[in-house]
Amino acid sequence: MTTIVDVLVIGAGPAGSAAARECATKGLNTLLIEKASLPRDKACSGLVMGTKAQALVREKFGEIPPEVLCQPPCLKGHVFHVPNVGQQKLADPAPLTWRRNLDNWLAEKAVKAGAKLSPATKVITMRPDGDGYQVIIERPGEERDMVRAGFLIGADGGNSFTRESLFPALKPGYAHVYQECYQLAVSLEPGYLHWFYPLQFSPTFATAHVKDDTLVIDVSGGIGQLKELRSWFRAHLAAEYGFDPGATPVWQGGCLEPVLYRQLFDGSFLPARGNALLVGDAAGLLTPVSGAGIGPAVRSGLAAAGAIAKATKSGGSAAEPYLDSLKPTLADYKKLAPGFKKITAAAEAGGAGLPRALATAFRATLRPPGEK
Ligand SMILES: Cc1cc2nc3c(=O)[nH]c(=O)nc-3n(C[C@H](O)[C@H](O)[C@H](O)COP(=O)(O)OP(=O)(O)OC[C@H]3O[C@@H](n4cnc5c(N)ncnc54)[C@H](O)[C@@H]3O)c2cc1C
Repeated sequence: MTTIVDVLVIGAGPAGSAAARECATKGLNTLLIEKASLPRDKACSGLVMGTKAQALVREKFGEIPPEVLCQPPCLKGHVFHVPNVGQQKLADPAPLTWRRNLDNWLAEKAVKAGAKLSPATKVITMRPDGDGYQVIIERPGEERDMVRAGFLIGADGGNSFTRESLFPALKPGYAHVYQECYQLAVSLEPGYLHWFYPLQFSPTFATAHVKDDTLVIDVSGGIGQLKELRSWFRAHLAAEYGFDPGATPVWQGGCLEPVLYRQLFDGSFLPARGNALLVGDAAGLLTPVSGAGIGPAVRSGLAAAGAIAKATKSGGSAAEPYLDSLKPTLADYKKLAPGFKKITAAAEAGGAGLPRALATAFRATLRPPGEK
């Protein structure tokens, strides 16, 4: 069977659902496919970070409903811990969710706007077809189908199949992230996302927070560092915060976050080609320093939909208006990127200035320039 659509969106995370909802709202016949069954879990802290991202979600999707939020529904901010050195707090209220609930709510909104959602659907191949694309998809227990789409939006996350298909020569760096959830109590100050920067593992880090009586811990870094960092973190939480190292996780999962800043800044990677656009993590649009990606995912998904609407009217390609719309974000990211260097320099200088350097670099990511 062949399905013909205006827009095929691949991946029903925040980027894909924002793009699909906006395309459908603009009257485009839109199919949103997701390889996982929904709702699906995703390794993430689930915070909608920064006033800009919060306003965008509210504007496009409405208030996040109570059943999508956790207990507590809002974190007060961040605490940056540098063991044996000190800590620094940064107030920044942010709605707190499990991603399975947040993403399911966003996908439902896309469906309400008129997008067709196909979960448990995997992309097998994709290739250009005239001005559009031919994509072969597969659902469990069914024959393979073909989708012919005028426009393609690759919203398939950090390890994007769409990016790999469009840009086979691109070799991104990756941060590996591993998350574990435990149903146990610890003595970490409630209401905060706790970031731990042990100097011996610099520049890698670990985080911990509690929601719905569940402790969520993450370790992040190069693949070779994760095992050692995880052991250190569990021992540190046990020694300082009453973590039970014998406890069994109720959920665990990993993911890859692409590191593409250099290529995005020097223009050697432009996350669009013809009428195929990459959004969110697939485009490498995580905020420098904080790694916040939900806001940029929604923003780039909306921008992709806007570019497609323009291209439909003008008959030109969608890549050009989409890449233009990314310029302000990339300009902001360029201003934030030196924060990485300041953090590394503070660690190399012995760590005394590291808690403050972390809070300063993070603060810059949370608010639009000019906002106090
Ligand atoms: C541990 C951790 C904590 C984080 N905490 C935060 C936080 O608190 N706040 C924040 O803003 N950001 C956070 N981030 C970043 C955030 O998770 C991502 O930036 C965000 O999920 C990006 O959204 P996305 O829609 O681009 O991709 P994703 O959310 O990854 O969605 C991609 C979707 O595509 C699907 N998919 C993949 N391949 C295919 C395929 N071939 N066919 C069909 N579907 C496919 C996947 O199943 C997935 O559902 C965190 C990241 C990590 C790893």
